[in-house]
Amino acid sequence: AKYVYDFTEGNRNLKDLLGGKGANLAEMTNLGLPVPPGFTITTEACRHYLAEGSVPDGLDQEVAEHLAALEAQMGRKLGQADDPLLVSVRSGAKFSMPGMMETVLNIGLNDESVHGLAKQAGGNERFAWDSYRRLIQMFGRTVLDIDGDLFERALDTLKGKRQDTDLDAGELQQLVKTYKGIVREQTGQDFPTDPREQMRLAVMAVFDSWNAPRAILYRRQERIPTDLGTAVNIMAMVFGNYGDDSGTGVAFTRDPGSGRQGIYGDYLQNAQGEDVVAGIRNTIPLEELERIDKHSYDELLGIMETLENHYRDLCDIEFTIERGKLWMLQTRVGKRTAAAAFCIATQLVDQGLITMDEAVTRVTGDQLAQLMFPRFDGGADKKKIAKGMNASPGAAVGKAVFSSERAIELAEQGEHVILVRRETNPDDLSGMIAARGILTSRGGKTSHAAVVARGMGKTCVCGAEELEVHTAEKRFVAPGDVVVSEGDVISIDGTTGEVFLGEVPVVDSAVVEYFEGSEPADDLVQAVDRIMRHADAARRLGVRANADTPEDAARARRFGAQGIGLCRTEHMFLGERRQLVEDLVLASTDEERQTALDALEPLQKSDFIGIFQAMEGAPVTIRLIDPPLHEFLPDIVDLSVKIATSQDVTEKDHRLLAAVKRLHEQNPMLGLRGVRLGLMIPGLFAMQVRAIAQAAAEVPGARPEIMIPLVASVQELEAVREEAVKILAEAGVEALIGTMIEVPRAALTAGQIAEAAEFFSFGTNDLTQMAWGFSRDDVEASFFSRYLDLGIFGVSPFETLDREGVGRLVEIAVEEGRAARPDLHLGICGEHGGDPDSVHFCHEVGLDYVSCSPFRIPVARLEAGRAAL
Ligand code: ADP
Ligand code: MG
Ligand code: MG
Repeated sequence: AKYVYDFTEGNRNLKDLLGGKGANLAEMTNLGLPVPPGFTITTEACRHYLAEGSVPDGLDQEVAEHLAALEAQMGRKLGQADDPLLVSVRSGAKFSMPGMMETVLNIGLNDESVHGLAKQAGGNERFAWDSYRRLIQMFGRTVLDIDGDLFERALDTLKGKRQDTDLDAGELQQLVKTYKGIVREQTGQDFPTDPREQMRLAVMAVFDSWNAPRAILYRRQERIPTDLGTAVNIMAMVFGNYGDDSGTGVAFTRDPGSGRQGIYGDYLQNAQGEDVVAGIRNTIPLEELERIDKHSYDELLGIMETLENHYRDLCDIEFTIERGKLWMLQTRVGKRTAAAAFCIATQLVDQGLITMDEAVTRVTGDQLAQLMFPRFDGGADKKKIAKGMNASPGAAVGKAVFSSERAIELAEQGEHVILVRRETNPDDLSGMIAARGILTSRGGKTSHAAVVARGMGKTCVCGAEELEVHTAEKRFVAPGDVVVSEGDVISIDGTTGEVFLGEVPVVDSAVVEYFEGSEPADDLVQAVDRIMRHADAARRLGVRANADTPEDAARARRFGAQGIGLCRTEHMFLGERRQLVEDLVLASTDEERQTALDALEPLQKSDFIGIFQAMEGAPVTIRLIDPPLHEFLPDIVDLSVKIATSQDVTEKDHRLLAAVKRLHEQNPMLGLRGVRLGLMIPGLFAMQVRAIAQAAAEVPGARPEIMIPLVASVQELEAVREEAVKILAEAGVEALIGTMIEVPRAALTAGQIAEAAEFFSFGTNDLTQMAWGFSRDDVEASFFSRYLDLGIFGVSPFETLDREGVGRLVEIAVEEGRAARPDLHLGICGEHGGDPDSVHFCHEVGLDYVSCSPFRIPVARLEAGRAAL
């Protein structure tokens, strides 16, 4: 294998092998941009080293050859005493992991070559000693694992109130001595002076940094695979720390916040790489470079334009100016906010750089979802008191509370509360449900609070470590001794991770207003509009809504739903109608039962009329009643208490209690529900089908589809179907009859089931629950965060469809169902219908539509378009 690539040999498509940094350095080199020469050791070499504990055979040889070529090109040798070549050894994985891994600059300096460097720099002693002390500091910290604070403190002591640039050559030489002392003290050995040894150790340290705890944690949070390894870039040094004619900077080719074109960057004179981001001195805005060094500035702007045109996207860059000469040290397609992503994509179309097809693939459903959350009013006065991790987006305002009990109490009184905890645990679930938002001082994006909040779509800021949360005293303390006690109002922004004191006004998102029908007002909404239109034209998947009420149906329609994929009928049995359900359950004769059903029928019918009208002729898939009947009866404890303590206990109460006891099940989700109810309670499904048929007969153009839940065998379906067909025929109404596929056995016998079903709708909530044996109502809050930590799955299978297991069941059912009935209509109605990755899966397996909650419809439309492109 070839383990080392010169910058001239690579290109940007080789990120797997060369890492992002290496691939893009090669790309820039081949574009003819001023990149210091160098070479890249592949990720494959790193993987070998991490697996075997030693570098692969031949690597040392290849590195030596490339180093020799670099030395020849530069006309000086690594660390050569009178005229040294210095190099940087830089990490660079496939996915950028900012600040997570190691880089060492100025490799090749020692007590001799430091003088050679000074000579090379025309006698600039100060510069040479500054470079040397930087080497020992970085090498000590990253290669020798010495606490970096030791070096920082020594530097601070020397500086006093001065800047680092105020230190003269003598002082820096003194600092080098101190640093070498620290190395000896901490490691028991002298700082390694052999340049090649320095380089070799640095390369291995970069390899090892792949498995540093913070890198592991970062990958887990960002869902980056654990086995990629990092490449290592070895590159000739260029120096921004010569003096004021030199410097270093970072820049974006346009504003990553809004997408607007313009100059966005920071520059620092007389400094080396790290200094800009480390904040050791105040940087200046990049515009000011024009005044300092117009020639370099103009060249830089030209290069940024070249890069944008070449990458056809926003890029971020690192650069250094060495005595008036500009050098490019890094570029990559830059991260951006959701709003900027939409604006940039359409701007690039207008500039003729990309097509509309590409523009659609440049944005994501998650970004669109972010733009749809309510947000804090940008113009409002805010007092920011802390910043944590943006765990679950949205803007929440409420009174701080420190226990779940208090959260529930206040919420019941109609108050808005924010639950503040050090960290949450499964006992906090009810408090989290009651709260408007959740704030924790500990834990990352896979902590319990974060996972559960995202699952509930609740705003959450986690790991705000600056906050000291004192649960028992019911208060927290923010930096600057800001004390927030129970009842004080705070505002949290789950999109940015910011925490504010007091109430910050919340405004509706302009993007939601647009989906609701208002004209695209600003640039952002216009960009969204263009991209949505193009995605709609491109997609093959239909998008339907899960909606049970005329209001939801109407909103879904406005948001672009092409039908209802899941209309649940159970809520139609709640409220005042419970009475009738109780009568139904208590009926002891056929007559009593029929009387109860007859009373329910007109109510159901009017519900359906409302929905058919709202859907204006689009199909409506109605699921017959699904939950266990005891859900409609009073709670067993409440009822027992009433019977034991109340004066006016009726005879019905006693019968109800008996019924509740009789209907009690250990595992209701696996009990008497769905099609089983239809078969056990004569007339129940018939009543629902009749209500549907009569409603459809009254609304011109209505297109009902009748869906039978929880079917596991074709015999169940046939029994129900036969009766339904008869009722429809009597009413002279046409409707498809189909089933949910949500029991694994149904998926595995889909060929048989398709004989009796005109459509399947994958109920992936139950299907996931039953395929994994996870009770959705219990396990997410109890052990999913642990499972995520252990990497058993990267994301909850209730959030993103598990392709390997549940997805396989879907694939089997699609294939065998279509084989039995070629025109079988296929959709999905679980929560997954609005999840981006799951939408792509549905496209790939050939479903006809996805169905999701009304608010997720735009996301599903966009992702369906992206999947097709
Ligand atoms: P990170 O991935 O953390 O940004 P880098 O490998 O990019 O780390 O290096 C850290 C800093 O050192 C950057 O500012 C980079 O521009 C600078 N740097 C890296 N190599 C060189 C070099 N050969 N000459 C001058 N500066 C360099
Ligand atoms: Mg960098
Ligand atoms: Mg179900």
